[in-house]
Amino acid sequence: MSIDAAQLESLTAQAQADIAGAESAHALTEVRARYLGKKGSVAQVLRTLGKLDPADRAALGQAANAAKQRIEAWVEERRATIEQGERGAALEVERLDITLPSAGVPLGHLHPLSLVTRDMVAFFSSMGFLYEEAPEVETEYNNFEALNIPADHPSRDEQDTFFVEDGNVLRTQTSNVQIRTMSQQQPPFRFIAPGRVYRRDSSPRHSPMFHQIEGFIVDETVTFGDLKGVLLAFGRHMMRGDIELRFRANHFPFTEPSAEMDYACLLCAKQGCPACSNSGWLEWGGCGMIHPRVLERCGIDSEVYQGFAFGMGIDRTAMLRYGVPHLRLLFEGDTRFLEQF
Ligand SMILES: [Zn+2]
Repeated sequence: MSIDAAQLESLTAQAQADIAGAESAHALTEVRARYLGKKGSVAQVLRTLGKLDPADRAALGQAANAAKQRIEAWVEERRATIEQGERGAALEVERLDITLPSAGVPLGHLHPLSLVTRDMVAFFSSMGFLYEEAPEVETEYNNFEALNIPADHPSRDEQDTFFVEDGNVLRTQTSNVQIRTMSQQQPPFRFIAPGRVYRRDSSPRHSPMFHQIEGFIVDETVTFGDLKGVLLAFGRHMMRGDIELRFRANHFPFTEPSAEMDYACLLCAKQGCPACSNSGWLEWGGCGMIHPRVLERCGIDSEVYQGFAFGMGIDRTAMLRYGVPHLRLLFEGDTRFLEQF
């Protein structure tokens, strides 16, 4: 069997078409073997050369070698195209859209005590109160004497105190803010002071560290009626309802007259329930008109100025507001609890 130039040309054209039709590297390798392999079409042509006349042999041999080179070149060209396409397809599959929003990282949020404290400060800011702070390590004078609590006063026993070095104490109440502010500035005053206080008292209903908020006003015409009005508005804001307040006469060394403040239990409408120990009322804090002696110790003329002060537990307010049954829940840092706020 032999082949002529026209047949070689047709075979080359067929190879070119097959190469162009190969869609994958694997298919291309098969096409190449079919034409250029040891048993491929071109090899078969070359094997027939021996049977030809010497003149025809040289011409067809040259043509066959040229065809071999052209086919090889087309294969390489096609291989490059296929590889480029496959890389592109792989990139497309693995494509990452970095503009997509993330899967979502859980965000933290404010502790219920922070929420309540901020709400308190915001409420009093709206009434013109300024925010004030004082040290948690305080002199005995600022924590006790200046507040009209002399060394032998029984209320010192009620406020079991942590003593630290140099005769200082961990403040047992936020009232040291009153002393520091009133000693250093001239009235009128209108201040709010939330913060930590410390007492040696630990039980299910008490913690050795807890939070209080203190508020006070000193001016020339301040009455107990003003105090009741401010506290009623405050209570309604904090408890998110039209609450009823009750003032019970009491005694504190630093106020005169003094009162304990309760509000009507919202759960039972004063009928009595476990939350209010069947009394219908919930204790909320203490208040009163600032004792003239306290004003005088701060260098304020008590003949000209009067003031009122009040204080309540931030922890207790948070418990009442959110219906938290145990104080310890506020301090344990259990996220299952905290996530509910
Ligand atoms: Zn009740």
